[in-house]
Amino acid sequence: MNILQTKHLSKIYDGKIQTTALKDINFDMKEGEFVAIMGASGSGKSTFLNVVSTIDTPTSGHIIINGQNPNNMNDDELARFRRNVLGFVFQDFNLIETLTISENIMLPLSLEGIKTDKMKEKLIEISNFLNISHILDKRTYEISGGQAQRVAIARAVITNPSILCADEPTGNLDSKSTKDVMNLFEKLNKEKNCTILMVTHDAFVASYCKRVIIIKDGELYQEILCGDNKQVFYQKIVNSISFLGGNLNDII
Ligand code: ADP
Repeated sequence: MNILQTKHLSKIYDGKIQTTALKDINFDMKEGEFVAIMGASGSGKSTFLNVVSTIDTPTSGHIIINGQNPNNMNDDELARFRRNVLGFVFQDFNLIETLTISENIMLPLSLEGIKTDKMKEKLIEISNFLNISHILDKRTYEISGGQAQRVAIARAVITNPSILCADEPTGNLDSKSTKDVMNLFEKLNKEKNCTILMVTHDAFVASYCKRVIIIKDGELYQEILCGDNKQVFYQKIVNSISFLGGNLNDII
């Protein structure tokens, strides 16, 4: 089943100079897929993720998520759709400093008016799964970057979203925390069949996915599938990005 479908999706930013950030993108994603979006800086990766995840609106074309077109919704419907159907993970974690870790994780459920018992049950389940049970009473400034991203992931998936959208989720992490976070994404994908769409400029990070989409100048340029061999997949990603003029120091 397609969880996400885009048809002739385009985005033009108006301004003194018009920028065509996305051109006629047709893209499908099935339930349980784990896809990375890659491309040079300015190629349209973030715009694509933002438009798909309803943070931004397309100029033309349409998006269907879970059989629904979010661009036809009113503000209330869209807010609800974002909370229930989409999960978000950002580069800078976006945790709320005045809340404890457990309050941060339960926030999407409390916004939905879920009963305390049910919220706690979900909190325990997800924090055990993501190995963060020991930091639930802490504050955001008491935990490491890697832990903060695990908390942000817990908050994003506590509602069982149809798609987890992640924009450079390892961009602020050292290599050890990057591996930890990517192992968690892989575990969510394999064990909970979580559908994940992630923007990254890092070939190592992308090699955790099953499919890599490369965007060039706002257009879908190439698709690379992970076969049986992760090392070969990684090498194909590196070759493709360096062919596009990516800086190898930047992506390894
Ligand atoms: P990437 O994520 O691949 O670095 P972006 O999606 O951020 O690329 O940007 C694609 C293009 O759209 C770039 O030329 C960028 O300058 C332009 N762009 C992005 N956001 C805006 C905006 N809010 N207003 C105007 N132009 C934008």
